[in-house]
Amino acid sequence: TGPLTEAVLGALAHADSVRRLEVRANADTPEDAARARALGAQGIGLCRTEHMFLGERRSLVEAMILARDDTARERALAALLPLQRADFTGILKAMDGLPVTIRLLDPPLHEFLPDRTALAVRLATAKHPDVRDRELLDAVERLHEQNPMLGLRGVRLGLAVPGLMAMQVRAVAEAVARRLRDGGRPRAEIMVPLVGTAEELRLACAETARVLAEVSAETGLPMDLPIGTMIELPRAALIAGQLAETADFFSFGTNDLTQTAWGLSRDDAEASFFPLYLEKGVLTASPFETIDEEGVGRLVELAVTFGRLANARLETGVCGEHGGDPASIRFFHRAGLTYVSCSPFRVPVARLEAGRATLEGTDTSDSR
Ligand code: PEP
Ligand code: MG
Repeated sequence: TGPLTEAVLGALAHADSVRRLEVRANADTPEDAARARALGAQGIGLCRTEHMFLGERRSLVEAMILARDDTARERALAALLPLQRADFTGILKAMDGLPVTIRLLDPPLHEFLPDRTALAVRLATAKHPDVRDRELLDAVERLHEQNPMLGLRGVRLGLAVPGLMAMQVRAVAEAVARRLRDGGRPRAEIMVPLVGTAEELRLACAETARVLAEVSAETGLPMDLPIGTMIELPRAALIAGQLAETADFFSFGTNDLTQTAWGLSRDDAEASFFPLYLEKGVLTASPFETIDEEGVGRLVELAVTFGRLANARLETGVCGEHGGDPASIRFFHRAGLTYVSCSPFRVPVARLEAGRATLEGTDTSDSR
């Protein structure tokens, strides 16, 4: 190691010795998890499961969502279960001994459905239109949304598709059982996305607990996994006290929380009028990059306060992009969160910033 590397390692060691914020990473493959761990991540704060449903599994997902009857759906779910179990086993193995927060499926639905226009054209131009194509188009039409990012996503989809949540929770539990039998120390947690009402979370938690108990009875192994919720809608932040009665942890999805608090599409905003707004001084930075302390940040603070009042053991983290942004990390430190979770390559910077936030907090007026 050269002098520069040594200096960096020294700074990181110092930051680690003082920082109060834990640093986890967002990763959804064993390779990314291992990379994050090598860079010092203390767990996976967000394992998204969306990509696990694409590629060659797409047709199963389509079958699961558009199934004409229970048998067809159950068949698709049964085929997905071992694939998901293998996904989770790999990640738990890479992160053995460290927490891995697995988020239940949260896709914008249109990414999973067959293209409506292509289907319609195929039907319109076919000499002998296939009756299955007709039925498929009807089903796709029924689920079509103008704004998929504000629609049947997250827990809403989990509650709408019978068996989907149960399949994913079972896959996690069976992966945990497998790792335990192999002598590992799996620490999986289940996270429910896009929650907006206490009843949604209660239903999701009840289903999760039911499946965990089932797998525990089958395997004779303990399955007391923490169950938490994302806070990524203003409504969720406002009812944080109610949510904390059911949740073991909150993870702030500041990407969606910024989108929904500002009423700005996270996919379009930066490309449309942002440059003009920045030029005119209306905005000084993109709220999608650096936490907007007086708006979105207030929602975070409010949810932490009311969440902890309702549940003193509540853990709180952030897993939106802001979890890797230096200024935002200092804000999350002041807001008293337990951890930030960011892309693996940002983990070292996050460790340094978390250390800096602690040092700054001890001698400046912004300590809380
Ligand atoms: C978020 O909304 O901040 C988040 C982490 O979830 P996703 O980016 O997957 O919507
Ligand atoms: Mg989100």
